[in-house]
Amino acid sequence: AKERGKNNFQFYSSNLNGISVRKMELENGLRKALDHKQFTLHYQPQVSLETGELVGIEALIRWEDPVHGLISPGEFIPLAEETGLIVPIGKWVIAEVCRQRKRWEKAGLPSHVPIAVNVSVRQFEDENLMHYIAMVLDETGLEGVQLELEITESIMQNLENSIIILNQLKERGILLSIDDFGTGYSSLSYLKHLPIDKIKIDKSFVDDILYHSNQGIMVKTIIDMGLNMNFTVIAEGIETKEQLFFLRNNKCNIGQGYLFSKPIPADQMEEYLINKKSG
Ligand code: C2E
Ligand code: CA
Ligand code: CA
Ligand code: CA
Repeated sequence: AKERGKNNFQFYSSNLNGISVRKMELENGLRKALDHKQFTLHYQPQVSLETGELVGIEALIRWEDPVHGLISPGEFIPLAEETGLIVPIGKWVIAEVCRQRKRWEKAGLPSHVPIAVNVSVRQFEDENLMHYIAMVLDETGLEGVQLELEITESIMQNLENSIIILNQLKERGILLSIDDFGTGYSSLSYLKHLPIDKIKIDKSFVDDILYHSNQGIMVKTIIDMGLNMNFTVIAEGIETKEQLFFLRNNKCNIGQGYLFSKPIPADQMEEYLINKKSG
């Protein structure tokens, strides 16, 4: 019995270790990933629900770790935030997007189409953020309006600091959208204090808009409120025609989701742009 108890204990503890070992390995890997050029960006089109035109592109990071293979941002972004590594990683994303935006100008990407970047609240604590973005815009020759930052409601945790930075970004022309709208902060009153251009309805709201009428009412209410406050309203995670029709009927401005395209690597995005131009 004594033996068995010991074995059980070992079995159990090695399982627990298994979890922390993966986390430690990922953290170590993450520290080297930038230097080893293991990050790439995938791009997903954002389409006008009125005209079907391409009106935006969202950049989504991918990490190919030699040990663990492709790791989803849902797993490593929280770790990057926890360790502060999101600051240098986020800088790389911004610079890469601006360079890419410039290259695609030649492939026919209309100059008014912005590329959106996800920005963690942690990056707003970096005093250098605004200066860095301004430098990258200058170096790449991009206009502020060609870059969009997707921020979440969690920036309200430090509202005063956020307002200062957001106003500086806005002065540079940079577009600002609230990502995952409705899933975070419970108060809506902050919206009128911020220089926001767009609100982005989270996929979880879009998922079953047609099957549950309350869900539909909620999405319609978010759209109406957004439009009344003069925001552009965009919905993510659109997978079906039914969802598209519902959103279009309710005057949602922009859509994004597998129905139009999955996030794709840069070279495929370029083909998409060239086809759009010639087709
Ligand atoms: P998000 O900003 O809410 O991005 C939307 C997620 O839904 C993406 O997952 C996208 O690939 C996925 N998606 C888009 N359309 C559809 C659809 O029609 N159906 C389904 N099932 N999924 C769809 P992804 O790429 O795994 O990214 C997950 C999250 O990681 C993002 O959520 C964002 O919060 C974060 N993230 C991604 N890239 C970055 C980055 O460069 N920086 C930061 N800070 N966060 C990032
Ligand atoms: Ca996003
Ligand atoms: Ca997000
Ligand atoms: Ca989301």
